[in-house]
Amino acid sequence: MKREKPRRISIDGVPIDVVSDEEAEKANFMVCILAPEGEPLKFADNFTGFCCRCGAKVQYRWYAPRKPKRICLGCAMANVHDLASASVFPKC
Ligand SMILES: [Zn+2]
Repeated sequence: MKREKPRRISIDGVPIDVVSDEEAEKANFMVCILAPEGEPLKFADNFTGFCCRCGAKVQYRWYAPRKPKRICLGCAMANVHDLASASVFPKC
């Protein structure tokens, strides 16, 4: 089966490949925003989970990929150069 080439967009000059739902399920991580206790979710139908690195409660859209490990934005930014290698995240 021929693999479709991902569509590339740019956000603030950073190239991002937009992939199919099937390709997104193969990602190592999914960056999520925090879901602080006592605060409403950004969208009422968001799902919640926990950051695989620090354990913070995170939130994500209900249609987000299910298989990738959830990581909070803070942990993702602190380790952005190492995200490609899951071996640097022994807790994840
Ligand atoms: Zn975290």
